[in-house]
Amino acid sequence: MIACDCEVCTSTNKKDKRLRSSIMVQSETTTLVVDSTPDFRYQMLRKNVKRLDAIVFTHPHKDHIAGLDDIRAFNYFSKKPMQIYANEMTQEVIIREFPYAFADTKYPGLPEIALNTIAMDQFEVGDIPITPILVWHLKMPVMAFRFGKFTYITDANRIDEGEKEKIRGSEILVVNALRNERHVSHYSLEEAIHLVRDLGVSQAYFTHISHQLGKHDIVSAKLPEGIHLAYDGLELNV
Ligand SMILES: [Zn+2]
Ligand SMILES: [Zn+2]
Repeated sequence: MIACDCEVCTSTNKKDKRLRSSIMVQSETTTLVVDSTPDFRYQMLRKNVKRLDAIVFTHPHKDHIAGLDDIRAFNYFSKKPMQIYANEMTQEVIIREFPYAFADTKYPGLPEIALNTIAMDQFEVGDIPITPILVWHLKMPVMAFRFGKFTYITDANRIDEGEKEKIRGSEILVVNALRNERHVSHYSLEEAIHLVRDLGVSQAYFTHISHQLGKHDIVSAKLPEGIHLAYDGLELNV
């Protein structure tokens, strides 16, 4: 956190240095990211990503969409618009926040976006099948996504029973766990552990972690078997 000198923010452990939450999902032929955070540009540079087929959005909060303008580099090299997948609520905010990308008169160099609407049905990006799952971020509906045996849930603290069924059977779950204290719109550490048990997933990784949770090594050592803290650069094979 900017200007903070708590033990996490001053830690020299790389795993305590977190950019905003996002994941990249890759198959043999297809690469997508979930959300374009304010750190999107640096995340793409850091991983030397040369090609990106799509961005799939969870919800329109700024920490999940702010980096969208930087797709222009991918537009430039692919000579194609970026395929964006978002529900209607998120699309409205994207159009409002990046109006120049949707103007009638387009100047060269502007981000080029092709909007695709996520309903609740399964869809595909290239050869990657994606099942949307509705979760709740206080009162905001947020899209979680299941990719085969892997499910990603950011920014939520409640899931309806019917939607939980879509997650069960996943082998790996990534879910938000903000801090130890409860929060109005994010799972706390304890609530996230409870959710993992409830869903019966054997491997879970916590993300969207605030500095208030504590240092990576200390918190990790106390977690139950099969539950881990995610960290920037973590790679999982599914
Ligand atoms: Zn949010
Ligand atoms: Zn967030």
